[in-house]
Amino acid sequence: MEQTCKGNGGIGGENTSEGDIKTDFIGVFCHEMTHTWQWNGQGQAPVGLIEGIAHFVRLKADYVPNGWVKSGEGQRWDEGYLVTARFLDYCNDLQQGFVAELNKKMRDGYSDNFFQELLGKTVDQLWTDYKARFAN
Ligand SMILES: [Zn+2]
Repeated sequence: MEQTCKGNGGIGGENTSEGDIKTDFIGVFCHEMTHTWQWNGQGQAPVGLIEGIAHFVRLKADYVPNGWVKSGEGQRWDEGYLVTARFLDYCNDLQQGFVAELNKKMRDGYSDNFFQELLGKTVDQLWTDYKARFAN
């Protein structure tokens, strides 16, 4: 899974201001730790979702540098990293513990229907709601 972590704003990258370096270091550590306990649906889950969950944990731990993707940004729910993390945060607000439940379901496989089973709406509907919620 580690190879999928490229491009998530590495330590001291071009776009990283000095003040963010410490935050980013802790954040990357937090992200990688998440991969050690999360399930990947026996390899069936979208990589963007796996990375999104790792970033969601980082988001909740408050280790997200300023200037990163804001709520409502992105083209696809499974785009990955912070786009997916913000979306998962929205879903988790609809139902506390949602991400933990989703992770549990991903132990034996993966289906987009998990969103419907947990939240009563398809992932596409949720993404549409999410985009509308944060539209200007
Ligand atoms: Zn990762």
